[in-house]
Amino acid sequence: MTAIQTTLTEPARSAQLFERASKSLVSGVSASARLHGVLGRPLFLERGDGPRIWDVDGREYLDFVLSFGATFLGHNDPAVRAAVEEALRRGVICGYETEHQTLLAEALQRLIPCAEFVRLANTGGEATQFALRIARSATGRQVVLKFEGHYHGLHDYATWNARGAQRDELPSYPYIPPISDSSGVPPQLADLVVVVPWNDPAAIEQAMAERGHEIAAIICEPVNYNAGCIPPRPGFLQHLRDLATRHGAVLIFDEVLTSFRMAPGGAQEHYAVVPDLSTTAKALANGLPIAAIVGRADLMHELGPAGKALHSGTYTGHLIPVLAALATLDALSQPGFYDGLLARCEHFYAGLDALFTKHGLPGHVQGVGGRFAIYWGAAGPIWDYQDALRCDERLARRFVQGCIERGVFLSYGGRGLGHQGISAAHTLADLDDALARIDLVLSEMAAA
Ligand code: PLP
Repeated sequence: MTAIQTTLTEPARSAQLFERASKSLVSGVSASARLHGVLGRPLFLERGDGPRIWDVDGREYLDFVLSFGATFLGHNDPAVRAAVEEALRRGVICGYETEHQTLLAEALQRLIPCAEFVRLANTGGEATQFALRIARSATGRQVVLKFEGHYHGLHDYATWNARGAQRDELPSYPYIPPISDSSGVPPQLADLVVVVPWNDPAAIEQAMAERGHEIAAIICEPVNYNAGCIPPRPGFLQHLRDLATRHGAVLIFDEVLTSFRMAPGGAQEHYAVVPDLSTTAKALANGLPIAAIVGRADLMHELGPAGKALHSGTYTGHLIPVLAALATLDALSQPGFYDGLLARCEHFYAGLDALFTKHGLPGHVQGVGGRFAIYWGAAGPIWDYQDALRCDERLARRFVQGCIERGVFLSYGGRGLGHQGISAAHTLADLDDALARIDLVLSEMAAA
């Protein structure tokens, strides 16, 4: 990237496209999250390469959104592109088995600690839906325990309390009243979900003591990236492991966003806590749509046709994403991949902290592996969703807007929330370039 551009004026082609898109696509987008909370429209892309994207107005950005975490190796990765081309050469194989699904399952068995068996799926939401089905089928219980601020997709059993209002106290402690994030979800399903605060060992201990006999599964994001970046407190994941075992519930790590992010085996390798089942997607195929449910052999055999829990799909195990996933897993299995990536991430997080100090602005960075959040106005570490909601929305917006204007593309999740990522394609020079741009944004914020 050469001169530091700004994008202060609304770009013409993007505005035209949005106007046109709004006449056919609901809200002008094909997925809700693409309506950028600060831009007020999607970023319409022309292309992406490495850590960079170009919009239809020819503006270049260093990308820290990275397809909401999917493009972990960077855009247009040559090995992934070659894999897609190879899949095309074989005739767009859909709905048939080849040796490659087996190769992918074997790679997941090698990499992910809990992966005794594998079933492929198309999306992260599909994977969590069927992981819960397996847990219910195996235990004969119906209730799922989840944590406030944790997102597991938009199916009816998952879309509870991933978002929610700020509150000062919780009269029903340790239970957070279940509230669906979406209309159209049957309210009766509230009886099948128990919601407790993240990182509160006493809360989950009490909930399991009182309702453990009903709980089919405890599901969590082992790092709560969907509320920015909230790691587990030391020992918390092991506490979940122990409680699930004690009460006969299935422990599910939803690693759709955490997998491959900090270690080849995901958060379960990083924190050395092995769940019963786990889901993976996003980084798995560097931007091609595929997911997997992996886990203990006995639980996985609840799935049909071996077991009675149905799961199938026309597009499941499609050869294009399967070959892309094999190429991705090969890339991140290379010696030194994580040493280099994690060192660059730490360099960037330390650089951001130094800039906040330099400008006397209350930004607070939390990063684990290749994803991070900036919590504005946080007095100290953020340990749960309610802490995150107390951050300064005005500063968060101003920052994201300034960064986009300076060619650093960031996400904005509303209420100050948003989670950003670093790809393996971001070099130290790219990250320093981003820091230089952010330095300018912060000078303007400090002067304002
Ligand atoms: N689980 C987690 C932790 C996620 O972050 C997401 C998506 O952001 C999902 C599930 C749903 O995945 P998908 O969007 O592929 O359905």
